[in-house]
Amino acid sequence: KLVSREFQSGNTIIKIGDHEIGGEEIHVMAGPCSVESRAQIIETAHAVKEAGATFLRGGAFKPRTSPYAFQGLEEEGLKLLAEAREETGLLVITEVVDVRDVELVAHYADILQIGARNMQNFFLLKEVAKTNKPILLKRGPSATLEEWMMAAEYIMDGGNYQVMFCERGIRTFETYTRNTLDLSMVPALQSLSHLPVIVDPSHGTGRWNLVPAMTKAAVAAGADGIIVEVHPQPEKAVSDGKQSLTLANFAAMMEELAVLSQAL
Ligand code: PEP
Ligand code: MN
Repeated sequence: KLVSREFQSGNTIIKIGDHEIGGEEIHVMAGPCSVESRAQIIETAHAVKEAGATFLRGGAFKPRTSPYAFQGLEEEGLKLLAEAREETGLLVITEVVDVRDVELVAHYADILQIGARNMQNFFLLKEVAKTNKPILLKRGPSATLEEWMMAAEYIMDGGNYQVMFCERGIRTFETYTRNTLDLSMVPALQSLSHLPVIVDPSHGTGRWNLVPAMTKAAVAAGADGIIVEVHPQPEKAVSDGKQSLTLANFAAMMEELAVLSQAL
């Protein structure tokens, strides 16, 4: 299989602009769950850049549990992300939820995110495979390692070899946390596959106060990067405020991460 170490023994390094994912550098992709307004995304972008993030995250198309919840600013949100990139130099990662939007999202984004709920949307996987953008493939909430690797195989088989895995927690009997962050997937994937592995401690816990510890644990486990939710006013966020770090908490976490990275 194309995803396997048997196919390629050396690690895949994904080059995006001046950055390399899967190499020495640990990447932090930070930003709000949803793009809400120009002020919100620009303020967050400046703050996370200042603290050391290399990518700006933010959803413009939101897969929500309830059809009555905020569904995203759509193209307006993509334009705001592009504006934030212009202002800060951060690269942009954002989710695409529908085959009909792939071209549009690829026009604005530097990395296309496939959400957990779409991990086995094979038609969407085949469509993003046709773009020349790197793909961040989130783990389905109940997907096995094998199913997840086969989802990545769809993208590679479609001709796009720039794929990274993202562990974002799975559904277990535990309810204190939103999901159970399965950090064993980091070394497991790295032994079976050559593709980079990113960890999302925000969806992986659902609680902002658990995020810094799980971020450090992910990096200690060997993750190539982190994708984390940050909001200027988490209590006012339209989505995922409970798991979002404030700008100050994010900056503090980045300092702890720098100390840890030195030690590793
Ligand atoms: C998100 O990144 O905001 C998101 C919806 O993540 P997931 O697909 O992992 O639930
Ligand atoms: Mn979210």
